[in-house]
Amino acid sequence: MTRSIAVVGGGIVGVAVARALARRGDEVTVLEKEHRLARHQTGHNSGVVHAGLYYAPGSLKATLCAAGRVALHDYCLEKDLPYRELGKLVVAVDESELPALAEIERRARANGVPDLRRLDGAAALREIEPHVAGVAAVHSPRTAVVDYAAVTEAMAQDVRAAGGRVLLGHEVTGLTPAGLADRVRVVTPGLDEAFDRVVVCAGLQSDVVARLVGADPSPRILPFRGEYWTLAPDRASLVRGMVYPVPDPRFPFLGVHFTRGVYDAVHVGPNAVPALRREGTAGRRSRCGTRGSRCGGPGRVPSRGSTGAWGSTRSAARCSSPCTTGGRAGSCPSCDRPTWPRAPRQESAPRRGRATGRWSTTSPSTRSAP
Ligand SMILES: Cc1cc2nc3c(=O)[nH]c(=O)nc-3n(C[C@H](O)[C@H](O)[C@H](O)COP(=O)(O)OP(=O)(O)OC[C@H]3O[C@@H](n4cnc5c(N)ncnc54)[C@H](O)[C@@H]3O)c2cc1C
Repeated sequence: MTRSIAVVGGGIVGVAVARALARRGDEVTVLEKEHRLARHQTGHNSGVVHAGLYYAPGSLKATLCAAGRVALHDYCLEKDLPYRELGKLVVAVDESELPALAEIERRARANGVPDLRRLDGAAALREIEPHVAGVAAVHSPRTAVVDYAAVTEAMAQDVRAAGGRVLLGHEVTGLTPAGLADRVRVVTPGLDEAFDRVVVCAGLQSDVVARLVGADPSPRILPFRGEYWTLAPDRASLVRGMVYPVPDPRFPFLGVHFTRGVYDAVHVGPNAVPALRREGTAGRRSRCGTRGSRCGGPGRVPSRGSTGAWGSTRSAARCSSPCTTGGRAGSCPSCDRPTWPRAPRQESAPRRGRATGRWSTTSPSTRSAP
């Protein structure tokens, strides 16, 4: 029996759910409050296709990560979307990190991460990433990068091709029972319609949407803003693929990392600062030198020191001009310093340390950046 299903949220999760439902014959309507898809987390992340290094073997995350990598690879191939296996290096900067690195290796092998290698000694690391300093690493050459916004757009085309609707500018403001048979009345500024089922994939607004149907206000999403920086083009050659620290087990995050994106810009981040808004990424006009948005504060740029290792720094001149820090990669019009602040998220604060995939900083709120 064909069911009418509303999917709230046009990020990658909502659109992928809608695609699966539409392809099995349901009448699907995606309702996205913004005027384009992937406007929030999906369009503001590192773009990494994880290979499953970290997750507990046998867990759902581990299983889905492995299956998802293959599915995403095949989908990108089918749709002619960019998919680049640039490889990922998780670097132990000193002996104290070796036990945690060994655990990552154990998990990665148990999870069947393809072509995984353990590297020991600085020279072995430099064969993969010539500017990295550390004592050991695990290398996952099949970890890839994609353009998740492009993937979402392609999936939305699949929804439409299967007869579904993708409605932009439709913020769901009401979800109430609609008469008999458990139908749900869905209200947006441009729609008032009953559906058999509603699937909510509202990302950072999930708790807000849940409250529309009278759900418990707990748990509540508390946003942190994760910001990325783009290495200046003349420094981008410092990073070939992805360079990650050994994660700090005190936090459920991967740590500040260097990622060569699918279009070759090298991003550094994310950091974590408390966010004033849940989805504060668009058109944020701010002033260089203000907290959380500085593009030219006294920065530290990982550069190659006399040892050939990252870890020496150079300071950036302070710039006091307004800069646009929203959207995709940009640069300050005055100091021309690249900026790429990104989506709210929850992330561990970068720790002090050498800059081998780890960002030197004095405190989480006074970010050092290129
Ligand atoms: C900084 C950062 C880096 C990350 N890096 C990676 C990475 O490298 N690799 C990886 O695999 N994952 C990464 N992630 C995780 C990944 O981005 C998210 O898991 C994924 O994008 C979540 O998708 P989503 O569709 O659930 O959420 P979103 O993309 O946020 O989509 C939710 C959508 O719901 C819409 N919405 C909300 N409320 C309503 C409403 N009332 N009515 C209508 N629409 C509504 C929003 O406008 C939004 O478009 C990262 C996340 C962050 C924040």
